[in-house]
Amino acid sequence: MRKLIQGIVDFRQNQTEESRNLFAKLALGQTPDVLFIACSDSRVVPNLFASTNPGDLFVVRNIGNLIPPVSAESQEVSAQAAIEFSIFSLNISDIIICGHSECGAMKALSQGLDNPCCSHLASWLKFGEEALHKVRNGVVITPDLSEHNQISQVNVLQQMEHVMSYPFIQERMNKKKVRVHGWWFDIAKADVYAYEPTLNQFVLIDEKEAQLILARMG
Ligand SMILES: [Zn+2]
Repeated sequence: MRKLIQGIVDFRQNQTEESRNLFAKLALGQTPDVLFIACSDSRVVPNLFASTNPGDLFVVRNIGNLIPPVSAESQEVSAQAAIEFSIFSLNISDIIICGHSECGAMKALSQGLDNPCCSHLASWLKFGEEALHKVRNGVVITPDLSEHNQISQVNVLQQMEHVMSYPFIQERMNKKKVRVHGWWFDIAKADVYAYEPTLNQFVLIDEKEAQLILARMG
């Protein structure tokens, strides 16, 4: 907390002219083109590893980067509300689900919750259980990863399916107005990987892969 407070003071003192102008412009409105869905984990900082500025990403972060499917009978609606807002009000063109290595949520799925206090957490994690079952039933993307990291990668694909279960997303995907991507952040290396369906692999986003992704976007 001390670091946080000092950081605010430092930010005020060190703001550049460029940064001041950016915020003044952003006060008039936001036009991000990406909905970025990531984990709440303190080590996963999309604006840092993607070198993005304020105004670039509309971000949803929650435990395990989970999105309830359209069929979910759940009281939880904040993630769905964010998807609706980003589509209908911001008109975003790309949705990225970004999982990460060493995810505590995926470890909890793999090993079970050891704390009986956390009923909300337990019910939230149900939206990731399909990934656990898939991995336990032999679905493999990167065989040499530990089980929780394998679940994390399969979970990215599972959450892509959940996002695509919403009819208004499907409709826009069919019209090529929205694309849904699966990414995975490796904390130890600070590398980001993109899921390539044709290879059934997460491929490092280096310059070559970045060019491929951009070329596909046209
Ligand atoms: Zn996590």
